[in-house]
Amino acid sequence: MTAAVSFQNVSRHFGTVRAVDDVSLDVRPGEFFAMLGPSGSGKTTCLRLIAGFERPTGGTVSIFGERMDTVPPYRRPVNTVFQDYALFPHLDVLGNVAYGLMVKGVNRATREARAREALALVRLDGFGARRPAQLSGGQRQRVALARALVNEPKVLLLDEPLGALDLKLRESMQEELKLLQRSLGLTFVFVTHDQGEALSMADRVAVFNEGRIVQAGTPEEIYERPATRFVADFVGSSNVLAPPLVESLTGQHRFASLRPEKIVLSGAGAIAGEVRSHAFLGATRRLLVQTPQGALHVTLPSGAALPPVGTSVTLHWSPADLHLMEDAR
Ligand code: ATP
Repeated sequence: MTAAVSFQNVSRHFGTVRAVDDVSLDVRPGEFFAMLGPSGSGKTTCLRLIAGFERPTGGTVSIFGERMDTVPPYRRPVNTVFQDYALFPHLDVLGNVAYGLMVKGVNRATREARAREALALVRLDGFGARRPAQLSGGQRQRVALARALVNEPKVLLLDEPLGALDLKLRESMQEELKLLQRSLGLTFVFVTHDQGEALSMADRVAVFNEGRIVQAGTPEEIYERPATRFVADFVGSSNVLAPPLVESLTGQHRFASLRPEKIVLSGAGAIAGEVRSHAFLGATRRLLVQTPQGALHVTLPSGAALPPVGTSVTLHWSPADLHLMEDAR
């Protein structure tokens, strides 16, 4: 199958800064693909390389099998939704959405009809005559989305599109975006530094660090089997076990990750510790348990019996839940 977006050994260096460093990836057609990583890890530069706002200093970017080496941004079958929406304040909503079609020379009746269809897709029918200043943050976000969709891109690029929204709105927009992506069958490449957002929305996630992809896989793979210590630390709240402890448990001198929800307070094959603190997290509670080999987090259902702070406990887990990792980035 031809990839929707393919990077072959792509680099983008700015002087000595390796913003993107030898990245290879394939985004499948119809896939919701998230690029996840801390600030400065190269995600936005990757998106700009797909859009054509940046040129690689090495390697090749292809879109649906076509090499993009000499293709300018406006000739690429992609559109970008930016975090700040970049709406024109002096145009009304319909004018904003129809703008790209006007530039392409589409006649007025056709572009307005298509702009109305795009506004209906994002549930903003009837908002065409408003100015951006008369909209809420979430509505502006949808106008930006409609403006990208009206061009019928083959790939939609989204750069932290929900970053400016408050938590509640952000969560409902996450669901809405996901539904829209499914119903249109469009390929989405989504940049975020929010691991919860990436895991809940994406079909596959690429985790970036220092310009490189450290792991790519389904949300389950990334969460359950982090490849490196960096991924385990960045994605979720895994316990990272130091090599001396892992060696005593498994005979292998390696770092290992252990999810707090995989630890229970009864069973065989245990290490002992003392409860240091509790945190109430709604559906669950998190305990911090100090063991001679380091502190571990334990997640318990909120209904479970809670040992008081200062109590000695034993921690148990299934050997299969101890996931050995590389110490690399
Ligand atoms: P954020 O989440 O903060 O947007 P990011 O993961 O998207 O971060 P990039 O914006 O891709 O990261 O930047 C990657 C690195 O490249 C950073 O160190 C950045 O300072 C550097 N960089 C990006 N663009 C340029 C440029 N035009 N000139 C010089 N350095 C740049």
